[in-house]
Amino acid sequence: MKINHLLPTALIQSKQWLSIIQDCVYPPTCLLCGDEGVSHSDLCQPCKTALPYFQGGCSLCSALMPNAIEITAVCGECQIKPPDFNHTHVSFAYQEPVRHLIHGLKFNSRFVNARLLATLMAEQLRTVTDKPDLLIPVPLHPQRYRERGFNQSIELTRHLSQQLQIPNNLNSCHRTRNNIPQAALGAKQRRRNLHRTFSVQPLTEVQSIAIIDDVMTTGSTVRAIAKAFKHSGVNKIQVWVCARA
Ligand SMILES: [Zn+2]
Ligand SMILES: [Zn+2]
Repeated sequence: MKINHLLPTALIQSKQWLSIIQDCVYPPTCLLCGDEGVSHSDLCQPCKTALPYFQGGCSLCSALMPNAIEITAVCGECQIKPPDFNHTHVSFAYQEPVRHLIHGLKFNSRFVNARLLATLMAEQLRTVTDKPDLLIPVPLHPQRYRERGFNQSIELTRHLSQQLQIPNNLNSCHRTRNNIPQAALGAKQRRRNLHRTFSVQPLTEVQSIAIIDDVMTTGSTVRAIAKAFKHSGVNKIQVWVCARA
């Protein structure tokens, strides 16, 4: 029997169809403690409440500024070298258990973690009034992509697009050099390492984008991508990251 015969036509036509499949494939169970997930998410309420939600920072790059009083404060680095993006939205501090969920996605291919993390990001981003025209994931170099088999930023982007109803473009930004991994370098070396690393294709009729990444450390990667898009003619650039180290 075809599954179509078991469901009302209106339901099949709606986007709920997708969430029904997802709930069958990944039933909503808390990924952190195994209890029942709340409102179709893979997290229970106590675990959700205990997450390390990100607390403010530089109004441009969200770098932590423990002594800042005003919400419009700009960090020293952004004052010296303003980024080509207008704002960074960070959902979480890069602490446990968020770190555990991101590691599970990146190094153990736990794609269900991407759905959870993107759902949590989308809950926060729904209140953003200045929605971008397009979501752009931070690309991996093709060689790294082949080794890993997927790009965690693309996984987050796909879920965010679906949940926030914002289109994405997975092919407009390419990493043309396979640099030394950024984690092994200091801040100054990171910027040098990324010089001419990204190439972007001009986006016609797109005024604003959001660059999507899993973890932002110094911000060198998203600074380099934003610079490339700004040069290509995009007016307004935001950065949306799951966690900031
Ligand atoms: Zn739980
Ligand atoms: Zn800053």
